[in-house]
Amino acid sequence: MEPRPPPEAVRLCCDRMLAGLARWLRAAGYDTTVAAADETDRAIAERCCEARRVLLTCDRHLAAHPPAGLDVRRLIVNDADAQALQLAQALGIDWTLAPFTRCLLDNTPLREASADERAGMPPLARELQGPYRACPACGRVYWPGSHVRRMARRLAQWREQAAHEHDPVRHRQPMR
Ligand SMILES: [Zn+2]
Repeated sequence: MEPRPPPEAVRLCCDRMLAGLARWLRAAGYDTTVAAADETDRAIAERCCEARRVLLTCDRHLAAHPPAGLDVRRLIVNDADAQALQLAQALGIDWTLAPFTRCLLDNTPLREASADERAGMPPLARELQGPYRACPACGRVYWPGSHVRRMARRLAQWREQAAHEHDPVRHRQPMR
């Protein structure tokens, strides 16, 4: 068995059914793409192999017969908490790796928001402590409002859940 790469080196691709999970992975700081609507399994597999992305899928057939060289993991549960634990155990996903450093919409690494961008935020957001970050691709500005704080709490819970899981066999989901 190859040694597990460090968490920050893990790159992922979610199939279309797991687009919601992709947002959570981006929120945690993971480089995560989502398969395009018109992309064939073969095209997805080639793209993942080339970029060394682990493909997360709900597709039983694809997971059972992965193209050569493709690391594919099948998520069989449709529950975010269970998926979070499964990914922590199977891939070493650290849910608090680098929270809110990537755009949730397009996966682009965020940069610090400019003074102009901060000036365009709602007044209540401007009164927060920050950090204020912006997406260079789509222009969306991120601030630690209630929605971001709720997501951050859930990420922290997932990390706790994984850290305190002493009986991995009981919770282990078949991966292929
Ligand atoms: Zn963006």
